[in-house]
Amino acid sequence: MSNPFDNAMAQLEKALQIKSINTNLAQKLHYPDRDIRIHIPISMDDGSTRIFEGYRVQYDNTLGPYKGGIRYHQDADINEVKALAFWMTIKCAIAGIPMGGGKGGIKVNPKDLSEKEIERLSRGWVQKLSDVIGPHKDVPAPDVNTTPLIMSYMVDEYEKITGDTSGAVITGKPIDKGGSEGRGPATGLGGFYVFETLRGKIGLPEKCKVVVQGFGNVGFNGAKIFAQHGHSIIAVSDSKGGVYNENGLDLEKLADHKKNTGSLADFEGSKNISNEELLALPCDVLAPSAFENVITKENVHSIQAKVILELANGPVTPEADDILFSKNIAVIPDVLANSGGVTVSFFEWDQNLKNEHWTEKDVFDKLQEYMQSASLAVWQKKEEYNTSLRVGAFLLALERIGEKMKVLK
Ligand code: GLU
Repeated sequence: MSNPFDNAMAQLEKALQIKSINTNLAQKLHYPDRDIRIHIPISMDDGSTRIFEGYRVQYDNTLGPYKGGIRYHQDADINEVKALAFWMTIKCAIAGIPMGGGKGGIKVNPKDLSEKEIERLSRGWVQKLSDVIGPHKDVPAPDVNTTPLIMSYMVDEYEKITGDTSGAVITGKPIDKGGSEGRGPATGLGGFYVFETLRGKIGLPEKCKVVVQGFGNVGFNGAKIFAQHGHSIIAVSDSKGGVYNENGLDLEKLADHKKNTGSLADFEGSKNISNEELLALPCDVLAPSAFENVITKENVHSIQAKVILELANGPVTPEADDILFSKNIAVIPDVLANSGGVTVSFFEWDQNLKNEHWTEKDVFDKLQEYMQSASLAVWQKKEEYNTSLRVGAFLLALERIGEKMKVLK
């Protein structure tokens, strides 16, 4: 399995080969400002104590406070969190929001813990890090397996420790705890706005056949939004496998089926398929929406999609990316495609600091503006340098960060 941080640095190098930038910045972006590893002791429900390893990486704050989610996963490690924090730096710059890049995590399978244990663990993460996070320092948010409820434990713990009542230290909170309207579907919706802005330019039809890998917040909401706009979702999968119906899946019914049976398998009118089969389906758009390193040099030759929309972070390895480019399969990169989540997180932070609450319509309209302008700016860079969308996106971000960081701080 390739190391996500090596992959992230390979992407950076590639962009730097196309256009050299301020060498101070180029050098600095190879290292996070800080990477912090913590150990969180938790009393378990049975009275025993367990120690969990946690992380916060603060990558770069040239454009604003460090910003990025917290992932709960048994395979989380410092290299993954470093890569994700680096991508957040690039992502916020592309989205045009005044935030830097950070990321956090805990090595844990949350399914092994009770709700009370998850609460203690989440509060424990904040206890260890309360001095380095803050509305103007570092603003965490949800990521894989972390929910608005978990964010509410965290913001409450931060308030208890510091007395800050703005709520702006954490985004992705429940709406009644200072969360923003529209944060739930924001990543999927942002991906859709990006896609709609670029669809014609890439040469895709008005109605597309779409395959979605991942059925979490991003995959499920993304699929639903594409379907609501007349695209056909022909296959989806979760970690156990997927289902395929060439005439399109009814996603609400499928979500109920998963709730009732615990899996997507055996959904009426569809065919069970493996994750590998799903990736190889002929379609207009393939949207990997789960984890890193899903499309690799081993399976890239089986891809039959016309376009890949990276709703997950880091799903395509650099080797696979080169092969897709040579085969003329456009990849709409993660740092653009999934930037809707952090954009609405920025709106939430802004509302908290101003003590405002915007309507869902206001949030969606603003999100659409940000996504359209980011997509067009990336497209322009890609055209200017006759390169891939990913390199175009990186060049845009490096330019924006470079302008702010004229000299080393
Ligand atoms: N975890 C999300 C991401 O990878 C959102 C981060 C945020 O809202 O700060 O972009």
